[in-house]
Amino acid sequence: MSDILVYALHYEGAINKNSLGAVSEAASLASQIGGEAHAVVVGEGVSDDLAASLGNYGVTKVFRAEAPEGLAQPVVDVMAKIMSEQGHQYAIFGGGLLGFEIGAGLAARLGAGVTMEVTQVNVVDGKLAAERPILGDSSISTSTYKDKGIIIGRLNAFEAKENDPPTPATVEDVQVELSPFSTKAKMVQRGEQRGADVDIEGADILVAGGRGLGKAEGFELCDELAKAFGGNTAVAATRAVVDAGWYPYAAQIGQTGKTVAPKLYLAAGISGAIQHKVGMQSSENIVAINKDANAPIFEFSDLGIVGDLNKILPKLTEAIKAKKGG
Ligand SMILES: Cc1cc2nc3c(=O)[nH]c(=O)nc-3n(C[C@H](O)[C@H](O)[C@H](O)COP(=O)(O)OP(=O)(O)OC[C@H]3O[C@@H](n4cnc5c(N)ncnc54)[C@H](O)[C@@H]3O)c2cc1C
Repeated sequence: MSDILVYALHYEGAINKNSLGAVSEAASLASQIGGEAHAVVVGEGVSDDLAASLGNYGVTKVFRAEAPEGLAQPVVDVMAKIMSEQGHQYAIFGGGLLGFEIGAGLAARLGAGVTMEVTQVNVVDGKLAAERPILGDSSISTSTYKDKGIIIGRLNAFEAKENDPPTPATVEDVQVELSPFSTKAKMVQRGEQRGADVDIEGADILVAGGRGLGKAEGFELCDELAKAFGGNTAVAATRAVVDAGWYPYAAQIGQTGKTVAPKLYLAAGISGAIQHKVGMQSSENIVAINKDANAPIFEFSDLGIVGDLNKILPKLTEAIKAKKGG
């Protein structure tokens, strides 16, 4: 059987956008390989409406399990049981750290093949073939699977497509006994990170900050400048700083983050590593501030300012405010 199972992450009564993309992608792929796409929702008291709403994105059936949501191991238990008993050949995740963790655990549990950071899935001879960029996005590696395959998308790789008219899915409750080690971790707090809802991909102007900001509070300089620009402006970040916890992952640009192409990309304290460059090189205008005249970012900037961002950013903010008459 060539059915595909998709994990649908949800929070406060809404399904995660990347999960909806994975659901739509799975539905389209299942129709091409003669199978069905199903989803799984995990949590305490997930409503019929929320579970069934996944049908609007193309799945015919939703498995619902009472288990802790937002933690990897309970979801691995749930998905491993469903895939083993119902014979799903593939699992697809929309990306994000939780998807990576669940997908890896599921692959180990089922002895399945796993591909992460997938940007496209094709059908070759009736089977799924997952593409992921490698070597700083300069090449594509294609994975096929001998038996079961776990495919984990890069964030925003799959587009959510709503059916018109809506077609609710059937909801089937599944009972799963969690492994003893799956109940060791407890969810202490769940919430949105500061800036997690910022739409950096849709912004016209991005003020991006890197390690050169020195500390988390350094981002206030970027926030101030973004506020002075006003309009459709957002603050973005490098991986180095999101890994350090200075700014939310949702704002990360680059190979393992988001790809952007704003009208103006202003980089403050960013060295311009290849993994960052691949996510912003299509920006219309690139302005970089860096104290090191040999920083790689100057090689692909339209305008480079060599100097200390702690002096330049506030001056730039003042100049923009003055120009705008505020
Ligand atoms: C598999 C893989 C995937 C990756 N994916 C990504 C990704 O998606 N996105 C990403 O961004 N990175 C990614 N990276 C990390 C990447 O290689 C770099 O480490 C990262 O981009 C560096 O971030 P940075 O520019 O903030 O820090 P740094 O490289 O440390 O640069 C800081 C810069 O700030 C300048 N500076 C310091 N103080 C000041 C000051 N006062 N005024 C002005 N300038 C100053 C310095 O001269 C330096 O150029 C990835 C790496 C790997 C291995």
